[in-house]
Amino acid sequence: MVRTSEEIIEQTQEFGAKNYHPLPVVISKAEGVWVEDPEGNRFMDMLSAYSAVNQGHRHPKIIDALNKQAERVTLTSRAFHNDQLGPWYEKICKLTNKEMALPMNTGAEAVETAIKTARLWGYNVKGVPEGKAEIIACDGNFHGRTMTAVSLSDDEEEKRAFGPALPGLKTIPYGDVEALKEAITENTVGFIFEPIQGEAGINIPPEGFLKEAFDVCKENNVLYIADEIQAGLGRSGKMFACDWENVSPDILILGKALGGGVFPISCVVANKDILGVFTPGSHGSTFGGNPLACAVSVASLEVIEEEKLPSRSLELGQYMKAELEKINNPIIKEVRGKGLFVGVELTEPARKYCEQLKQRGVLCKETHETVIRFAPPLVIKQEDLDWAIEKIKEVLEA
Ligand code: PLP
Repeated sequence: MVRTSEEIIEQTQEFGAKNYHPLPVVISKAEGVWVEDPEGNRFMDMLSAYSAVNQGHRHPKIIDALNKQAERVTLTSRAFHNDQLGPWYEKICKLTNKEMALPMNTGAEAVETAIKTARLWGYNVKGVPEGKAEIIACDGNFHGRTMTAVSLSDDEEEKRAFGPALPGLKTIPYGDVEALKEAITENTVGFIFEPIQGEAGINIPPEGFLKEAFDVCKENNVLYIADEIQAGLGRSGKMFACDWENVSPDILILGKALGGGVFPISCVVANKDILGVFTPGSHGSTFGGNPLACAVSVASLEVIEEEKLPSRSLELGQYMKAELEKINNPIIKEVRGKGLFVGVELTEPARKYCEQLKQRGVLCKETHETVIRFAPPLVIKQEDLDWAIEKIKEVLEA
């Protein structure tokens, strides 16, 4: 029996914790940039599961890798070796030009891993006194929902609700290199940041910040930790958002599109002098590095490379931003973005406009109350993008 969208939403509301506020649309099928509800209505996905579906929904090559691996072995735990982990290690290390990788499952877990790496490195390599390691993050950051990620946040209300927060963490204004210099002490082990802040509303730091902050970190023996879970893997129009200023982070955190929207996988990559601090038993995850995730991830990375998704994102993103900038409506405060990662900031709440776009077949979501985030799968065709831009113009034109 096929149930209606209304019935499904009702059931979800009745039994589910209320930790999300989804648009009232049920997706029961998807392919490429298009999704469908149980009634057969089609929508264009302009969110890509917060950039996890950069390769498009159910990319045939990734689904093929999933099916083939599912026929062989899906989980071994790390108590034994599996034959997919080695090839994945080599693939991710070569892509990022780093010596070592550590796989996890979700983005927040990879952030946890990066923080543990930095602290351990601080004690074992930098020589910070026990229990004194400090990490600097940025105002407006979003690193996930675990206690470490909540503790990194500058949202005092959230920290109070889930407190006590983890000690040894502080924030500076995003993009402020002078504030970074002032915040560093002899016990600072890492500076964690998003090269483009996604959840905060597609915030792009001032030009030069990524490189200047890198230099400050180098001068002070502080690890430069880039959370590219959302902005990386082609989304910003480069393979990694740090490539915009030609910096290679000490620790790079990846997730989301690393599994092509098909299977969760995240990781931390770094050189041996940093990630080499872990010893058996000091970190891990039952599912981390499982053969199904690894096989899916290798295929997902190959799709990004073979289909040149970073340059597609760059080209189509520039076009999209220019088209949206033409919209003449005083409620539009700013159109900003890099690649197909575009935010339209309004002078009023954005939810109403997301609902109107949904009525016209375009799915997107407000972020930070007043910003509409547009992040379609990077495989989007020009004609599909034009179709979406027309709908956005219809809704946003005064
Ligand atoms: N870091 C960034 C920059 C993110 O955008 C997100 C998710 O939106 C996360 C971390 C957390 O990832 P996950 O939801 O997979 O735990």
